[in-house]
Amino acid sequence: MKDMSKPVILTGLRANNDLTLGNYFGGLLPIVDMAKNKSDEYQINLFVPDLHSFTTPIDHSDLQKQIWNNLRLFVAAGLPLDNDGVHLYRQSYVSAHSELTWVLDCFTGTGEMSRMTEFKDKTAKIGDDRVSVGLFNYPILMASDILLYNATYVPVGDDQSQHLEFTRDIAERMNNKFGELFTVPKAVKEQHAFFGKDQGLRIKDLADPTKKMSKSDESGKGVIFLSEDPEFAAGKIMRAATDDLASINYDSQNQPGISNLIEILALTTGKTKEEIISEWQGKSSYGDFKQAVADAVRAFLTDFQAKLAQVSDEAISTKLETSEAAANDIADATLLRAQKAVGLR
Ligand code: ATP
Ligand code: MG
Repeated sequence: MKDMSKPVILTGLRANNDLTLGNYFGGLLPIVDMAKNKSDEYQINLFVPDLHSFTTPIDHSDLQKQIWNNLRLFVAAGLPLDNDGVHLYRQSYVSAHSELTWVLDCFTGTGEMSRMTEFKDKTAKIGDDRVSVGLFNYPILMASDILLYNATYVPVGDDQSQHLEFTRDIAERMNNKFGELFTVPKAVKEQHAFFGKDQGLRIKDLADPTKKMSKSDESGKGVIFLSEDPEFAAGKIMRAATDDLASINYDSQNQPGISNLIEILALTTGKTKEEIISEWQGKSSYGDFKQAVADAVRAFLTDFQAKLAQVSDEAISTKLETSEAAANDIADATLLRAQKAVGLR
């Protein structure tokens, strides 16, 4: 039952908060570029992993709004809706995700899940009584998200590499036991080679440039959100932590704050990092430099938010309807293979 159709590229962006500049350039833009330029060679699946949204506590009265915000952000970032080679869907509207997860749950060791770094980190941070079983086994849900669609390419950040490796393990384990059930996605190294430069991108937190910018950051002081007031965002740039070396250099080891701002300036102006470096290298006025970055971020957000305001919810609804029907067909076919294999059908 190997499919002869186009290789599938799949990605989901968790709808637990407004997306950040990091999510935009590191997660969203690469897949949107693929959707714009490569959809005749690849099937592109972009989904809102709404079931993943509350593995950690959220305000549930906000979830619908969050899901729709994310959908609009995808479109504002350029996702083409009039393209059959692109599927846009909400995970919970395809029940096979939950159903396959249960099957795979029963072939996964608790030790295997306990060793997941993200689980260990969150447990250490908030204690195991506050870490849900959902967070414990979300890598299995993630494996289902990927395997149901026979996906080959899944762009992953560093934080997700381990979960992709698990997806490969469980797929191989099931294939060994039951015959060719699943397409095994490419290994992390090959993913990086396929997606190229964007994969290594890590925009840092402005207040603490030793850690990455995260949408779930508690204070949000060092985070630029896509929907936030551009003026307010510019203020965050002006207050960004730097160093006292009084010389602009791209050196993420010794000048992480300045290096991060160079990165942000390049991304938001569309220039290369090298161009920015040759423009600013060795200059001593951090004030002027920050002003330039703040101006660029303000302009970027203003432009992006103008696009966001143009997005039609009706067009999204129409796309969801056709994509979710198609996604259910594909996912159900895979689920049925698994159900037959384990003797449920
Ligand atoms: P959370 O705090 O909820 O984990 P996050 O900001 O880390 O949020 P994810 O949902 O984990 O976001 O990841 C969404 C996508 O954005 C992934 O492709 C991830 O690699 C990418 N991404 C996340 N943070 C950054 C960043 N700081 N720089 C570049 N890309 C990023
Ligand atoms: Mg993350």
